Amino acid sequence: MGEIKRKGNSTLKGRSHRVAIIGAGVVGCLVAYGLQECPDVEVICIDKGPPKNELAGTGLNVGPNSLKILRQFSPELADSLQSPGVSLPWESWVAGLTDGTVIFDLPLSQVAENAGIRIRWAELYRQLRQPLGDRIRYNTIALSMGYRDSDRLYLEIENQETGIREAFEDIDLIVGCDGRYSQVRSSFFGGSPTPEHLGVCLYRLLVPQKEGLIEDYQQWFYNGSRLLTFAIPGDEVYVAGSFPLDASLEIRDNQKTVEYLRQCYTPPQGLSPVCQFLVDAVCEHIEEIHWARVQDILIVFGDEGGRVLCLGDASHAMYPTLGQGASQAFEDGCYVGALLRQALQESLVDFPALVARVEQMRRDRITFVRQFSREASDSLLAGSHPAAELQAKTQPAFLAKLRRLYQDTPLLAEALTLG
Ligand SMILES: Cc1cc2nc3c(=O)[nH]c(=O)nc-3n(C[C@H](O)[C@H](O)[C@H](O)COP(=O)(O)OP(=O)(O)OC[C@H]3O[C@@H](n4cnc5c(N)ncnc54)[C@H](O)[C@@H]3O)c2cc1C
Repeated sequence: MGEIKRKGNSTLKGRSHRVAIIGAGVVGCLVAYGLQECPDVEVICIDKGPPKNELAGTGLNVGPNSLKILRQFSPELADSLQSPGVSLPWESWVAGLTDGTVIFDLPLSQVAENAGIRIRWAELYRQLRQPLGDRIRYNTIALSMGYRDSDRLYLEIENQETGIREAFEDIDLIVGCDGRYSQVRSSFFGGSPTPEHLGVCLYRLLVPQKEGLIEDYQQWFYNGSRLLTFAIPGDEVYVAGSFPLDASLEIRDNQKTVEYLRQCYTPPQGLSPVCQFLVDAVCEHIEEIHWARVQDILIVFGDEGGRVLCLGDASHAMYPTLGQGASQAFEDGCYVGALLRQALQESLVDFPALVARVEQMRRDRITFVRQFSREASDSLLAGSHPAAELQAKTQPAFLAKLRRLYQDTPLLAEALTLG
């Protein structure tokens, strides 16, 4: 074992505060970005993965709500994410049946003030991480963390490549941005959360585009099975397929087969050309599929001591039906990044009060989005009737909720002045 470098109060080098960010994904990068302009703060930002996240080899759609708050937080980051070649605009949402019948056809401008984006995962991470340069310690894990006393935390980290360990004392705040299987959450909130399974298998992959066949966001259903797709830059197509499961059971091996998948999506009258392409592409790439069960967890923000804050998936991993996981990580990150930036420009910060304020600002919004994502999952379940359920989504009640989802992000200037 190598030497451990210990950093206590004396190593703060005239700085007033020390903040640790565990996980440099969507929300971790945004919080770290907000703290860049705080010279009085030492930020320790670690990620267990390498700088280039090869695992993030699929695509995602980032909601209009994310872009709305990001533009207030950092116009430069919003510009770079929306630049040509980096992403494509998400401007419409079409849904129907796998035979090609369209039931729901919504220009997003009817429910949102601005477009969202469609982007490759690795590109999103690259855009968010690049401005932070070497401020992120990659390949680094937390060996231990906890309270030294009621207002001071410690953290010991290890670089997995070099074996070098560093121990930090006198940490004011630990921000858990380490995703769905958060170590911060299990360390400070009584162990790993028990997931609630929806009873749906979900898999995602990228396949080559076929002569512009797929463009903007679309979803195609047969009984409870769904194919979701959209094009991303680089002539690639993102496909997220799902089929119903018994919520209490694992995905069976005979469900991970070409035969099973084809029968999930194929109606007696046959597949539309788009769905035929999607099913063929999925079957061709079946060996590359990572199979997952859709689940969500209970929401937590601040711990009892008031100096640990979970954000993004660590706080509220949710059903992905409305594509809001990353989008809510954006909302959390922009709000908390701006709040910390503002608070830490003062010398005396009441961290427990700040953590309580984040919870007060974010809990209702996250509760709404989590509940709406659950409701919208009706057409993914066994025994569902997608034609009727999609029809209901064309009605004013659903559209009003979509408006709330895409437009009611915190307005940063207002949120920061509310005491
Ligand atoms: C394939 C796929 C497609 C998705 N599609 C969409 C979509 O279309 N729209 C959408 O809104 N959401 C989507 N989601 C959900 C979205 O990925 C998450 O909700 C979002 O990434 C959450 O952001 P986060 O910053 O909380 O966590 P993440 O982005 O997961 O980042 C967590 C970071 O923490 C690091 N980390 C984890 N554990 C530790 C540890 N112990 N120590 C140090 N570092 C650690 C990880 O390496 C990672 O970099 C998708 C998810 C997947 C997997």
